[in-house]
Amino acid sequence: MSHYRGRFAPTPSGPLHFGSLVAALASFLDARHAGGEWLLRIEDIDPPRCPAGAAETILRQLEACGLHWDGPVRWQHDRDEAYAAALARLESLGLAYPCSCSRKQWRDFPIYPGWCREGVREPGKPVAWRLRSDLGLRPVVWQDRLFGEQRFDPAELGDVVLKRKDGLWAYQLAVVVDDADQGITDVVRGHDLLDNTPWQRQLQHALGLPEPRYLHLPLIMSGDGQKLSKQNLAPPLPLEDAAVRPLLHRALVAMDQAPPAELATAPVADQLARAITTWDVGRIHAHPERTATATGH
Ligand code: GLU
Repeated sequence: MSHYRGRFAPTPSGPLHFGSLVAALASFLDARHAGGEWLLRIEDIDPPRCPAGAAETILRQLEACGLHWDGPVRWQHDRDEAYAAALARLESLGLAYPCSCSRKQWRDFPIYPGWCREGVREPGKPVAWRLRSDLGLRPVVWQDRLFGEQRFDPAELGDVVLKRKDGLWAYQLAVVVDDADQGITDVVRGHDLLDNTPWQRQLQHALGLPEPRYLHLPLIMSGDGQKLSKQNLAPPLPLEDAAVRPLLHRALVAMDQAPPAELATAPVADQLARAITTWDVGRIHAHPERTATATGH
């Protein structure tokens, strides 16, 4: 089997909740089952969205769940030079351009119409940087490990932002540069990111980077049909062992891994050891969304 390297890449905009546990656990189990490595990357490129201490809380929550990562934590706030080099390369290839347009100016269009492609429309104004998607138009196609063939029309993807007007790096550029730099072979994450993947594939292609395999997971919804998120105040994962044990069990149930009921309150290490051995992506039902029966604690 080829070497496997996976990662969990949370944005530290708040503590992890049950939905994030499912994503973290799935990528961890997929990596460990394959005898591979599992890395942790903190995606803190947007400081105003990342309250002080949130990243440290995430590390403690993962440890409490027994999800121990390999090597040092990668922090995106340290990666300015690498992102700048990638943007410079795209610019030198004629694939990135500065854009002064505001959302308001193109609000009547479904996607940004590319007005600045041949030169900034309003020189002197602050600019964002965009990826040029109209050159060599080809459908973006890949095989998701759970959801099967995915096909996106570049004309509908538009020219994605790589660097924002406020100078912050965009998620799409940072994630692609770091996945390649860290040698990630397998991306396992929530279904809410599936429609971001075509931009990431476009960027990998433009930068000549290897393409990882992708496994998108059913998204965990709360009982009232809302996506679990920091915004709707999903409860943070607990740190106390007694509370973590049943949650881990529920996360395995949510991924259709059929953990034995008698392990529901077993030590975290025992639950994980069994789950690593028996991990089977083929068991996961391919629904974009999933309501977890018990997401509180
Ligand atoms: N940082 C992203 C998030 O927390 C996930 C990035 C990824 O897995 O590609 O939503």
